[in-house]
Amino acid sequence: MMKYLLLIPDGMADHEVKALGGKTPLEVADKPNMDYLTRYGMTGITKTIPEGFEPGSDIANLTILGVDVNKYYTGRGPIEALARNLRAELVFRCNLVYVRDGIMVDYSGRRVDDFEAKRIISHLNEAKKYDFIEFYSGRSYRNLLLINRVFEGINDVKTTPPHDIQGRRIEEHLPRGGEIANLLNDLMEWSKSVLQEVTQKPNMIWLWGGGKMPKFPKFKERTGRKGAIISEVDLLQGIGKGLGMRVVEVEGITGYIDTNYKGLCRAVLRELKQSDFVVLHTEGIDEVGHEGDAEKKVEAINIYDEKVVGYLLDRLDLEEIKIMLLPDHPTPVDLKTHTAEIVPFLIHGGKRDDVKRFDEKSCLKGGFGFVDGLRLLDLFMYYRGL
Ligand SMILES: [Zn+2]
Repeated sequence: MMKYLLLIPDGMADHEVKALGGKTPLEVADKPNMDYLTRYGMTGITKTIPEGFEPGSDIANLTILGVDVNKYYTGRGPIEALARNLRAELVFRCNLVYVRDGIMVDYSGRRVDDFEAKRIISHLNEAKKYDFIEFYSGRSYRNLLLINRVFEGINDVKTTPPHDIQGRRIEEHLPRGGEIANLLNDLMEWSKSVLQEVTQKPNMIWLWGGGKMPKFPKFKERTGRKGAIISEVDLLQGIGKGLGMRVVEVEGITGYIDTNYKGLCRAVLRELKQSDFVVLHTEGIDEVGHEGDAEKKVEAINIYDEKVVGYLLDRLDLEEIKIMLLPDHPTPVDLKTHTAEIVPFLIHGGKRDDVKRFDEKSCLKGGFGFVDGLRLLDLFMYYRGL
């Protein structure tokens, strides 16, 4: 039976960059392996962020995996809770932030480290304001608030990601919408005095991205195939668990371009023996996009092509494995953040088109044309071609 490998280099698509002679990092990169798959495969363009959604990796990757976020997405907090095997009535993301004179100065709490964050979170739990809430420490400034009481009106709550309001007054961006928003505001205000007792770095919590635990449609039920996901970030691991896929842990990963690519690829090869559909999502290129360094992004793509795509092509039987490769969204170096723009994609293992290079412009002429992001999984799994 045919097996499927889905490769997602996070944030690889980009804009034309002056410093690169008006080309995109993908156009400039030396990527013989991705170009090989392109030459013997078929390409197109797609949009993975549906109208009205923020261009987050959670939204993009859910869409690529065929999950309609309009129906199933409940927030980032609940997906992170899935990743850690936590359950609650409601889950919110709880950032440790630094606010001065009413201005959001730092959404990351001035780089609070894991150790200090744990101390702060346990202090919040000891000081506990209500017995139906619990704080859960994650990594650094990224923590969770679990609410174990039934509240009505979660859909009316509006919260704002703190990284979107850096340098702005927090007053206009506090949670709004009913009883739950009141609770969130109450906790955020209360946290100021609690944090003061333990730390100088972050000085309040910021609650956002919350909702009920999502009920994603199970991958196996939808496709009849056993799926596995290998990723360096908990958002993708949470999505995998929510979809009922095997989530494979790999040692020595950094989420950056110095990560353990060999370990990740070996996990893919191992996993393909027991699963029908394997996702490899890697974070490094996106991180470099956020740094805004065009040359470094080109280098990151070169590394990805050699250490991931090349390594796997040397070891896979392409007669038996279909491959789809695409970035989940662009992370353009000129903006240093995600956008909701179109991205190129390729499928190897079916029909071919005339496109020879995998980049934003070449794939505009691809044989698939424009494909809605939500249709990609079907196209990949059921479109036979030839
Ligand atoms: Zn992403």
